[in-house]
Amino acid sequence: MLSWEIVEHGKPLQKSLRETPKPQGTEVLMRITRSGVCHSDLHIWDGYFDLGGGKRFYVKDRGCVPPFTPGHEPFGIVEALGPRAKGVKVGQKKLIYPWIGCGKCAVCKAGQDNYCVSGSRFLGVNRPGAYSTHVLVPDPKYLLDTAGIDDAFAATLACSAVTAYSAASKLPPLNKGDAVAVLGCGGLGLIAISVLKARGARTIVGCDIDDAKLAAARKLGAKKTVNTRAADALQQMQGVAAAIDFVGSPATAALGIAALRKGGRYVLCGLYGGELAHPLPPIAQRAIGIVGSYVGSLQELKAVVALAKKRKLRATPVEIRPAEAANSALEDLKAGRVVGRIVLDFESLAA
Ligand SMILES: [Zn+2]
Ligand SMILES: [Zn+2]
Repeated sequence: MLSWEIVEHGKPLQKSLRETPKPQGTEVLMRITRSGVCHSDLHIWDGYFDLGGGKRFYVKDRGCVPPFTPGHEPFGIVEALGPRAKGVKVGQKKLIYPWIGCGKCAVCKAGQDNYCVSGSRFLGVNRPGAYSTHVLVPDPKYLLDTAGIDDAFAATLACSAVTAYSAASKLPPLNKGDAVAVLGCGGLGLIAISVLKARGARTIVGCDIDDAKLAAARKLGAKKTVNTRAADALQQMQGVAAAIDFVGSPATAALGIAALRKGGRYVLCGLYGGELAHPLPPIAQRAIGIVGSYVGSLQELKAVVALAKKRKLRATPVEIRPAEAANSALEDLKAGRVVGRIVLDFESLAA
């Protein structure tokens, strides 16, 4: 199999030819055809998350040790089955749920693999991911049928859409006039607008520093947009019932929390980095909620796929690039030059 690997953090990925693994037990070997490029791939590429105050969390400490293949928006075709893998057939196209836990702890058994407490096996995070012609999946239950959905868009459901869906499920009940701010209108923020609309939010405020991304947000249904570089950005956003932050910087956190009405909720998804310093009394006095959200469960991905099948999700702009362009895709994403999502095409390599 051919994989694009992080050999040294921050340096270009290297193409390497390795032996294709043979599925054992309940494992399924998938031939990857589409692989989404996500913002958190940049942190894995860099090798750390910025915790603020000069502190860092290094990805090698959770099993992401080079050479490592990133990629956690995988879509492909069943190529081979382990002797105990049941329920799928060779040749079937499937979306792969990447947030796989140990499968044994109580949290995993309750269907919340993404919060596994004893040994996550997240594809592209602590197991080899989908910047590769092949990926080994531990069990067929992590494979989803997406017939009727474009393959490249389907790939992006595995991280960006399910993350947005899970964040939206953490919002307080919305009244008719309630507005929800979406901070950061990159790949996640744009699909979040669509997810929020599908879940009944009527007034969505798209917020970003890039007018091209704000235009895309309006196209996808944001009623109002705010360029957060504006001096009066906070006034423009003031009084929202909720803010979902897909950036996760000190500036966006401060803005999202300050803009909430009383009883509002700030949901943090973005991993840009830094730390939060906030006076304590107003959190109680304003009765606001501050909550984190990390990717989503298998059940939530199934719900997202069902929405997409019913045409309830408007596809974000997707740009397909050849797998060979993995490095320039990461560079462009890092530089903020991508509107929507880049999806790598691995099918061309197999030909
Ligand atoms: Zn992601
Ligand atoms: Zn577990």
